[in-house]
Amino acid sequence: MNTKRRAAARDAILITLALILLAAAGLYTWTRSSEPRAPTDESTWVYYRCTACGERFHYNGQELNDLQAGSPGGPHIGGTGGVPCKLCGKRTAVREPIKP
Ligand SMILES: [Zn+2]
Repeated sequence: MNTKRRAAARDAILITLALILLAAAGLYTWTRSSEPRAPTDESTWVYYRCTACGERFHYNGQELNDLQAGSPGGPHIGGTGGVPCKLCGKRTAVREPIKP
């Protein structure tokens, strides 16, 4: 009888822990999703042309943010060179002044 009651108490603790973890995960997801995201619409696109493979592509506002976040003090986004090509991955893309 005593063992059974102890098992029930342990179960209750485990269930409580599981609920706390679930709540924490839910809260984390909720706070993450409410984080402001940079716009990705066409007005934020910056056009590039790869000097290695000739690929023409664009980065949207969010992608540019991610690039800058991933390389603090790194490539000069929006200038010439240093931007990775979406096709070959080489950092040889140069900015196109107009939409290709
Ligand atoms: Zn390329």
